[in-house]
Amino acid sequence: MIELQHVSKWYGAFQVLTDCTTTINQGEVVVICGPSGSGKSTLIKTMNALEPFQEGEITVDGVNLHDPKTKLPKLRARVGMVFQNFELFPHLSVTENLTLAQIQVLNRSADEAKVQGLKYLDRVGLIAQKDKFPGQLSGGQQQRVAIARALSMDPIVMLFDEPTSALDPEMVGEVLDVMVNLANEGMTMCCVTHEMGFARKVGNRVIFMDHGRIIEDCTKEEFFGNPDARSPRAKDFLSKIL
Ligand code: ADP
Ligand code: MG
Repeated sequence: MIELQHVSKWYGAFQVLTDCTTTINQGEVVVICGPSGSGKSTLIKTMNALEPFQEGEITVDGVNLHDPKTKLPKLRARVGMVFQNFELFPHLSVTENLTLAQIQVLNRSADEAKVQGLKYLDRVGLIAQKDKFPGQLSGGQQQRVAIARALSMDPIVMLFDEPTSALDPEMVGEVLDVMVNLANEGMTMCCVTHEMGFARKVGNRVIFMDHGRIIEDCTKEEFFGNPDARSPRAKDFLSKIL
């Protein structure tokens, strides 16, 4: 579904990604972890063409991001993205948040977009909140709306960037439950998260990053079950968060 080949990226003179190669297959749940500043957000943003990269190749569903013929807005519409800070439009109601991109990017009718949006709002358990504004919802509720909004676009893959890091602890579970359900339904997912409970429960693979490099890329069983085979950096990281 997503393939990265020798991807390197610089911010000016600073190399933020170095020779990153990995593949996310259809139906897989891949968890990306690693220390702060290791390049996790940058990596996930390059997968969605939100950030340019200078070397290497990325293909999403067979479409090469560096091909000048690739229509990036169209491609981005098919890749769902959920951020740490929800990024809902504060001046729009929940329903308007759910329908806007469907109407503007996918050219759906307002009615069709609403039916689709509310279907996913119901699925994340928030149909009763459809007329509220984001500021009237808890952080956990806002993040569930953000997930419903991404799903309303019928994405082929969902990318999550620390979706629970900005939440109060008591709200983490409700967001993870939605993500676990999605994974169990077979959605292809790539999640930057330090929620190792989630990784153990539904993850297929774990990628560990450090200083812009993919240091580990292995099955969940290998990552958690065979700590002695892990790199010193990954071991050190695991010892701090587990
Ligand atoms: P992570 O998500 O793992 O914490 P990031 O991908 O956000 O890491 O950042 C990786 C590195 O790139 C950090 O050193 C960060 O300071 C730097 N960085 C991130 N965004 C920019 C930017 N827009 N310009 C310059 N440096 C950046
Ligand atoms: Mg980050």
